Amino acid sequence: MVSVELITVGDELLIGQVVDTNSAWLGRELGHVGAQVDRIVSVHDAASDIREAVETALSRADAVIMTGGLGPTQDDITKKTLADLFSGGVMRRDQSVFEHVRRMTAERGLAFNDLNQAQALVPDGATVLPNRVGTAPGMMFVRPGSAPGREKLLFSLPGVPFEMKQLVTEQVIPLVKSHFALRSVVHRTMITFGLAESALALAIAPWEEALPEWLHLAYLPNARGIRLRLSAYDVEADSAAKEIESRFAGLREYIAPYMLGFEPASVEAAVASILLERGQTLAVAESCTGGSISARITAMAGASQYYLGGVTSYSNEAKAQVLGVSMPDIEQFGAVSEPVARQMAAGALTRFGADYAVSTTGVAGPGGGTPEKPVGTVWMAIAWRTSDNGTETFARQMRFSELREQNIERAATHALNMLRLHLLGLSDAFQQTGML
Ligand code: ATP
Ligand code: MG
Repeated sequence: MVSVELITVGDELLIGQVVDTNSAWLGRELGHVGAQVDRIVSVHDAASDIREAVETALSRADAVIMTGGLGPTQDDITKKTLADLFSGGVMRRDQSVFEHVRRMTAERGLAFNDLNQAQALVPDGATVLPNRVGTAPGMMFVRPGSAPGREKLLFSLPGVPFEMKQLVTEQVIPLVKSHFALRSVVHRTMITFGLAESALALAIAPWEEALPEWLHLAYLPNARGIRLRLSAYDVEADSAAKEIESRFAGLREYIAPYMLGFEPASVEAAVASILLERGQTLAVAESCTGGSISARITAMAGASQYYLGGVTSYSNEAKAQVLGVSMPDIEQFGAVSEPVARQMAAGALTRFGADYAVSTTGVAGPGGGTPEKPVGTVWMAIAWRTSDNGTETFARQMRFSELREQNIERAATHALNMLRLHLLGLSDAFQQTGML
């Protein structure tokens, strides 16, 4: 198996100022093409640390990918350190990089200064990987191996994520593929939502036990659902993909109401596709979720075809004046209560003239909890039109955690899921839906 090690360079990564998302992305992309990331290391912008990390990684791995530290400023020293390691410190000016940097600075209306000139210097012997979207080029170094055909590859890429990604997709992965015999990998991920991990595992146990040995199942939970990934290695790709497809189809027998679809499926996308297909519309009334339901819907292209609008009614007055919630009810039952959730949804439905509405009202935390309504208590409701043009609502209380951010994300996802289940005529599935 082809072993890859990753080295990310930058003081900012070690002090927690920037999260190393480059490694996570690289691990995923390389895994998809059948190379395995075996180690991830982050080091300071310090020559001795970089040198040691590179030597150690190259002593083990078939390929090493580094990101960061390629900029023109004094603190970025990766390029110089690699020149010391691979070409006795000798740099050459690369004419194509020189022209590219000059053109990019001109297009951006910037002066072409000495630092930009330095960007065209590359270690002698390095292969330049042109960077279409930035100024610092990627580089490839080849280290002779113990035997012919066993050369090791070292890639050095800019730290800026979108520049790194572009270079990896367009150049690094094709080079790795042509250099090494990669094993075949087939992955498929089904997104589920509504069952907690243990309930899900119990529900699908017979299905899981019947999987052939060469198919590997992983559970990957987060606030937006539990992803079930099936992977196969060293198999004939087309037939493995067909088998995975048919296994996931068989999963419907066990958990159909909770299956959102293959990655990148989401609850909001599932709601959107049903509404679009039926030509129906949605309005939103949010309190504790603060607009995040609307934000998730409008983040999807084409939302204007079914999303009419939303109200973030945070204060009692806004709930009463904008949505028509009864002030006496707010006073009697509290803003976080069943009647208020129902009236918010019904108010949004009629005010926007929508076919469906969804609402949330809860205690996101960390403050504001009481013994009867602790932090994490959320009421959510949906409203829809009856055949005689009246309004009907359904409400549900859920209790999440102490963590504000999680409570908001979970409440938004559950509220949308309530609507999804209602639209599919699967309201019974609410009863089994856990407090994810
Ligand atoms: P450029 O020459 O394009 O500036 P560079 O190689 O010099 O690239 P750095 O200066 O090390 O890159 O980092 C640039 C920015 O890229 C950092 O401020 C940070 O926001 C982001 N970045 C760097 N490394 C990572 C990483 N591992 N994960 C996520 N973001 C990163
Ligand atoms: Mg840096």
